[in-house]
Amino acid sequence: MPKYVYDFTEGNRDLRDLLGGKGANLAEMTNLGLPVPPGFTITTEACRSFLADGVLPGGMEEEVAAHLSALESAMGRELGQADDPLLVSVRSGAAFSMPGMMETVLNIGLNDDSVHGLAKQAGGNERFAWDSYRRLIQMFGKTVQDIDGALFDDALEELKDGRDDLELEAADFRALVATYKEIVRAHTGEDFPADPHLQMRMAVEAVFSSWNAPRAVLYRRQERIPADLGTAVSVCSMVFGNCGMDSGTGVAFTRDPGSGQQGVYGDYLQNAQGEDVVSGIRNTLPLQELENIDRSVYDELMRTMRTLEEHYRDLCDIEFTVERGKLWMLQTRVGKRTPGAAFRIAVQLVDQGVIDLDEAVTRVTGDQLAQLMFPRFAEETGTTVIARGMNASPGAAVGKAVFSTDRAVELAERGEAVILVRRETNPDDLAGMIAAQGVLTSRGGKTSHAAVVARGMGRTCVCGAEALEVSAADRTFTAPGGVVVSEGDVISIDGTSGAVYLGEVPVVPSPVVEYFEGSGDRDDELVRAVHRLMTHADAVRRMDVRANADTAEDAARARRFGAQGIGLCRTEHMFLGKRRSLVEDLVLAVSDEERDHALAALEPLQREDFTAIFRAMEGRPVTIRLIDPPLHEFLPDFTELSVKVALAGEEATEKDRKLLVALKRLHEENPMLGLRGVRLGLIIPGVFAMQVRAIAAAARAVPGSRPEIMIPLVAAVQELEHVGDEARAILAETGVEALVGTMIEVPRAALTAGQIAEAAEFFSFGTNDLTQMTWGFSRDDVEAAFFSKYLELGVFGVSPFETLDADGVGRLVEIAVEQGRTTRPDLKLGICGEHGGDPDSIHFCHRVGLDYVSCSPFRIPVARLEAARATLACAGSDTR
Ligand code: PEP
Ligand code: MG
Repeated sequence: MPKYVYDFTEGNRDLRDLLGGKGANLAEMTNLGLPVPPGFTITTEACRSFLADGVLPGGMEEEVAAHLSALESAMGRELGQADDPLLVSVRSGAAFSMPGMMETVLNIGLNDDSVHGLAKQAGGNERFAWDSYRRLIQMFGKTVQDIDGALFDDALEELKDGRDDLELEAADFRALVATYKEIVRAHTGEDFPADPHLQMRMAVEAVFSSWNAPRAVLYRRQERIPADLGTAVSVCSMVFGNCGMDSGTGVAFTRDPGSGQQGVYGDYLQNAQGEDVVSGIRNTLPLQELENIDRSVYDELMRTMRTLEEHYRDLCDIEFTVERGKLWMLQTRVGKRTPGAAFRIAVQLVDQGVIDLDEAVTRVTGDQLAQLMFPRFAEETGTTVIARGMNASPGAAVGKAVFSTDRAVELAERGEAVILVRRETNPDDLAGMIAAQGVLTSRGGKTSHAAVVARGMGRTCVCGAEALEVSAADRTFTAPGGVVVSEGDVISIDGTSGAVYLGEVPVVPSPVVEYFEGSGDRDDELVRAVHRLMTHADAVRRMDVRANADTAEDAARARRFGAQGIGLCRTEHMFLGKRRSLVEDLVLAVSDEERDHALAALEPLQREDFTAIFRAMEGRPVTIRLIDPPLHEFLPDFTELSVKVALAGEEATEKDRKLLVALKRLHEENPMLGLRGVRLGLIIPGVFAMQVRAIAAAARAVPGSRPEIMIPLVAAVQELEHVGDEARAILAETGVEALVGTMIEVPRAALTAGQIAEAAEFFSFGTNDLTQMTWGFSRDDVEAAFFSKYLELGVFGVSPFETLDADGVGRLVEIAVEQGRTTRPDLKLGICGEHGGDPDSIHFCHRVGLDYVSCSPFRIPVARLEAARATLACAGSDTR
């Protein structure tokens, strides 16, 4: 039988999958000798079993009972013991951090008897005991018994009657306990459970169930966290930050998560418990203030933070509590940080000799790099700053102010840019935060919910802009000077400086993009960090990175961004614009002569296209794909032309009439599965040959160019033999050397890759079509039509058009790689579908042994970095 419960002294940080991040790190801190309140963790395995069967797994409760009694003996008191109670917290903690998404219940073990025992423990502090009791009923009611939290909040507000919560007295909290119990009775039909063991069991089950709460599901989807991991539950003996002004609770970072600078960063709240800091309920003190409040606790905290940073060799964030002058560590983890800070911290740690460059490259991600490539606000704007808040998550966001999650989602669905404005956010605002360009709050610090979640998902966020009066009911906020911003008014927020502007502020390009473009400021700390890590990434990665580029301008940009060649030059756009009429002539040609004439007119134009691209690529390989889409895509719209011809009557031109007939003839019910790609090349003679001649001529005009000719939509080797032979004959005639290869984008091609490799010198996986045809999903329709439902149902965690579906499409890729290389060991292999720029898919490509990935010019830096991270990840797992 599996072991379901681990004491904090038994686990360690490597057991994240089993104990969750929180449980694993509590164990790690315990082992480091840091002051962690004793406790134990129930595994994610128990959670998975509970979620699958609806009951706690056999044996788990006995194990929990044994660990609880060990805890009771160690603490010298029993759970909920009337005269001297042990109280515990029950906290969620998954393998991946999901801030605020799941549940926590504090103060378990309190009831009408033990509340007196607690007061006695606290030196007769009745206020503290009744405050703790009401918090238990409130948290338990909301999270375990599913009672609307607003009922408890409203009852508290009514009781406060304008007073600060610190002004409330024991009698107030006692009265509140009675009111809260009434609320529980009214909603559950039963009394609040007084039995401490029952409280604990119900809380554990509720935390397990919170894994599937809608906001947790949404968060996982956004962050691409697998849906089937489950959460662990840590049961920890309570320590109290709410037993007087010599107590308190706080959160801190070992470095600034915005810049990476070392220093003291955090928030502290005196006489408060647990979630009070993160929820932004009361405004917090900067952590430095703790030095004046309690010097010795402050010094111990600083020492502890240094120990943690040295141990984890990274920025850590922590939660701590001070109970009557004694420091307790409640949580630590490697902290979330802004993308810019991730690069700076990685390089700072290298400079400090803490990590080497290989490890530094693994500490940053392609997604973070992509975020750094966003534009930011111009410094001289002329637009009015109406308020300033904290620069909680960087970037520049412009949009219409909205005051509720529902409105944010609604307007965003209509394609409008919105800024979500709230007094403070809570986990129910997640959908609005995802939908918005940025988030603005009037309360809460850099560690508030809004800040943590926004940073995690790369949303711009300004928080704690206290000068703003936000009224969600009126859908307005008022800024100093009487400026009133109503729903729909455009505002701009700067997550890097914390400024809030009225109106739209012009944006300037990212310094990182300027650096890639070759014009950036090399002295900028961020640019230097990016440069160092990218240089190292290029040195370690195994795969090449090429660009999907169809024009000389795109090719030139791709080069500047570090492309080592072109992996896909789509030739079809070259037939649009003014050249359409030549394609029309081609379609209308009846005799060989007319067709040759039309092709002869296209050939010099194609030659110019290819010449410009070869020049831009300066001797690097250029894969040119022969024309792919169905011909009717280049012809006029059928309905429009019918109307035109009908209206013109007798006057209609001969060409229009013929075109209309041709359009009817070419009409297909399923053009994506029709006459396109290699099929077109075989059916309309001369088109492919014209393109190959143009490529050969361009190659001769640009010495050193390295063309590769790629045939699209091949399903059978015979197709490739026909067009491949023709192409090779032209190349031989012109004396030009070029590889001739094929796309693998039809499942049959992947399954018969061994045969196809006889006729192909390279394969490039066209995973857009391969995904379309493997799943049977129309790539133009399904994402908008029903993917949100599929994501909700968990059919897949991410669209297979975004991240390569390793099990299905990926399997076909693996088969093709293996068969292709068996036939032709030096077969060159690449990918040119959209997946070539997606981090997870790039790792897949590395693992299956592709030689290069090809992606759009803007994704090239991301692909360079991820290809290196994939190399390092595989090297790491080989040696581990
Ligand atoms: C593909 O199918 O993956 C591909 C690269 O070709 P296209 O997107 O042009 O169909
Ligand atoms: Mg394709």
